[in-house]
Parts: sequence; structure tokens; C-alpha cells
Amino acid sequence: MTPEEFRAAGYDLIDLIADYLEGVDQRRVVPDISPGDVRAMLPERPPAAPESWSQVRADVDRVVLPTLSHWQHPNWFAYFPANTTYSSILGELLSAGLGVQGMSWVTSPACTEIETLMLDWMLELLDLPDRFRSTSEHGGGVIQGSASEATLVAILAARWRATGGAVNADGDTTKLVAYTTSQAHSSIEKGLRIAGVGTYRLRIVDHLDDTFAMRPASLAAAVAADLAAGLTPFFVCSTHGTTSSMAFDPTTDIAEVCERHDLWLHVDGAMSGIAALTPEFRWVNDGLDRADSYCTNPHKWMGVNFDCTLFWTADRRALLGALSILPEYLRSAAAESGAAIDYRDWQVPLGRRFRALKLWFNLRLDGVGSAQERIRRDVGLTDELARWVANDDRFEIVAPHPLNLVCLRLAGQLNEVTDELIDTVNAAGEFHVTRTVLDGVSALRVSVGSRTTEREHVARLWAELQRIARLLVPDEDDTGELRLGI
Ligand code: PLP
Repeated sequence: MTPEEFRAAGYDLIDLIADYLEGVDQRRVVPDISPGDVRAMLPERPPAAPESWSQVRADVDRVVLPTLSHWQHPNWFAYFPANTTYSSILGELLSAGLGVQGMSWVTSPACTEIETLMLDWMLELLDLPDRFRSTSEHGGGVIQGSASEATLVAILAARWRATGGAVNADGDTTKLVAYTTSQAHSSIEKGLRIAGVGTYRLRIVDHLDDTFAMRPASLAAAVAADLAAGLTPFFVCSTHGTTSSMAFDPTTDIAEVCERHDLWLHVDGAMSGIAALTPEFRWVNDGLDRADSYCTNPHKWMGVNFDCTLFWTADRRALLGALSILPEYLRSAAAESGAAIDYRDWQVPLGRRFRALKLWFNLRLDGVGSAQERIRRDVGLTDELARWVANDDRFEIVAPHPLNLVCLRLAGQLNEVTDELIDTVNAAGEFHVTRTVLDGVSALRVSVGSRTTEREHVARLWAELQRIARLLVPDEDDTGELRLGI
């Protein structure tokens, strides 16, 4: 491809992206296709000769767009959002265009220093504790690809600290024990497996029946039992906004236990932590001043496109102890002077993209006010939906809804009936929701946070849920009116 062809295709591509995002509401939310259908639309053999942009573009229109699940669709109520913004898309494009690989300061000083600055900006915007600031004695932050990677590096740092670094030499993880609840994200267990601790040494701490939040007394008891058995408790994950139901573990009380026994306290605020951009939701930060590490994802709710996870630690010595390795070919005077950060030592891979650009562009071109507006809008819509649900006795809300997730079920029905509600609403392709199970109870999750979701979309989803509920659970006294409660 020549520079001239690149310029022409680039204009076309930007149009394509803008047209896609502006028209995404006209599409089915998820495609009606089966595994293998996409591949069958493309040639089995690679092209024998270069093709033109228009040929490639034609296949984007013919193959890619119709077979996507549309996360930016206003009727996307599934999982947690992964919303994007034009400003962050520009940052992503520039990152690809500059093609730098910022594994160390010397391999691209701007990549490193803008990232450090963004972590400090976000610390201020989220009102996080100063112990995470890059200029603090032992703290600092880094952009990871995902909350799962953030959890993994937290576990590795904790493992290093608990063994006084010995694990790097002898690899002995046999006595280490970690703690979280059954509501925590599966990435905790995955991280422990990767770290050689395994599922076997993950203690599932009890949670409260109504809020799904960890019981600190149960944590204390589990830690005491493990200590008495000669094991080494080393890591606790407290979640601020669980994936299933958006439960908040009581981090301040959990921190008491952790401090007593010098356990690493990681707080996973992957989805909900971003709410702290708005002052009235700063309660999501409760207890962070006592955490060893914390992560939250601008790529979920803030509008900075995937992938962008912010990870902070108050103990970068442990992180660097666990992850820094210095082969001769990576030595640099800058790093040896101690004045420069080499982010390769803060993450699992060596190489890294210039992800800070999309955050920087977003904060400058859209401003934090735009994210605050969206957060308030989404929480407001969720509250409104919860009121409609509460006013309809066919339905039941099964968990608190502190921010932008409502979990509901058909009241008094078997799980299978709620499962059928979920399958039916998804099958039509107009909306997309996901299912969870909370202590054995099937629930339909409505997660509000897509870029373009407005009140009308939530209201239409609610009307559709009511319509299906009437079919699944006929009510003899039903007048046939939809009880919208709007
Ligand atoms: N933690 C929580 C609470 C989550 O909700 C999720 C994903 O939804 C994750 C971790 C994993 O996120 P990621 O895809 O960034 O690894």
C-alpha cells in the first residue's frame, strides 16, 4: 500500500467508523448466525496478490459488519459495557500509526511519560489515595490490557512479598493461600492458577445473603484456621462491583484483617470504579486508602475503547521484585540512573502499545464532564428501571442495584422460567441481556452503559420483558394492559 492509497483509504475508513456508530441502532444487536458461518463467507486460501482497499472494504461491509455483536448498540444490556468514544478511537489510530513499542523508557520516552502522567491525572479525577501516585514513596500506576492482567500482577507482587522474594528462586508456592468470595471475577482464580497457587489454595469466603458482600468475620476465621494449619495466607481480593450482581465487599473491614496478618489487599473495581469520576459516587472508593493495589477499567464504562485497565499499587517494590528481569540487551543508562520507569517491569509481556494516547485524547477532547454525564445518565436509567420492576409483582429484584446493573427474575417461578425469559428476549435480536445465578437463583442482568442508550431504549426493553412475562406466566386477573409503570 502506498502513502497515497493509505490517505485515501484512511478517509474512507473514518467515514465507515462514523457511519457504523451512528447507524448501529438500525441493526440486530447480535447476528443470527452459527459457528463457522463467518469463515464460510471468506476464501480458504490467502490472497495470491495484493488487493485494493475497495475490495477489502467490500468484505468489511459484506462479512464483518453483519456478523458482529454490536457492543455500541443502544439495546446492548449484556455483560458490562465496553463503550467507546470518537476521541479515544483517534488515540487508538494514532497509537497504531506511530507504531512505537514502549517496553522501556528509552524505547519511547513519550509512551512512558504520558502514561505515568495519565495515571496521576486519573488518580486525581477519581479521587484516589496519594499512596498510589507515581511521585509517592513506593506507589505508582500503569495501564494494563485487562483487569485480569491487573489481578495477575497483583497476585505475583503479593507472592513475592509474602515469600520475601524467595519464590523467584525456589518457586515454592505450596503454602500460599488466597481469599475472595464466590462472587469475585473468575480472573482471580485464573491468576492464582497461573501463579502456581492453584484453585486448591483459594478460599471462598462467605458472603451476606442479601448484598452478596464478603463477611469480614468469615475472612478472619479462614485466615486464622490457615495460620493454625501452618499455611501462609498472602492475598485477598475485595471486589467493588462484582460481575454477577455489582456487590461491594466491605474493604475497610477487610483491610483490618489484612493489616493484622500482612496480607496483600487487591481491590477489583473493574467496572464500578469509574463511577468515582462523579463526586456523588466516590463512595465506590471506600477503603482504597488501605489497599495494596487497585484496578478499574476505562474500557468498560468511561468510553476509552478496549483495552485500557488502570492498575495502581502502593508497593511497587514488590511488583518490581516479582517482575523485573534485566537481560543485557535491555540495559539502558536511563533505567540505571533510577530516573526512568521501564513499564515492562510492571506487567507480564515485554512489549507494550501506546495505550495512554486514547485516555489522553479522551480527557482532552471530550473532557471528564462527558463521562460524568454518561455515568449519571446510566445510574438514573437503572434506578428508573428498578422502580418499574419493583412496581410489577410478576417480577422481583434479586440484588441491590447501587449503580448501573439490575438483576431481576420472575417472582415465585422456577429458575427455568426466568431462563426462558432471557432466551426469549435475546432470540428476537432486538435486545441483548445476560444471565447469572445468585446463590442458586437464576437472574436476568440488565447492565446499562452502552454509549447511546437512552431512556426510550430501557423503556422498550422493559415493555418487552413484561410482554414475554405475560406469555410465560399468564395471570388470570390480567386485563391485557402492560403494566409499564412508566
Ligand atoms: N473484574 C470484574 C469485577 C469484572 O466485571 C470483569 C469483567 O467484566 C473483570 C474483572 C475482567 O475484566 P477484563 O476483561 O478487563 O479482564
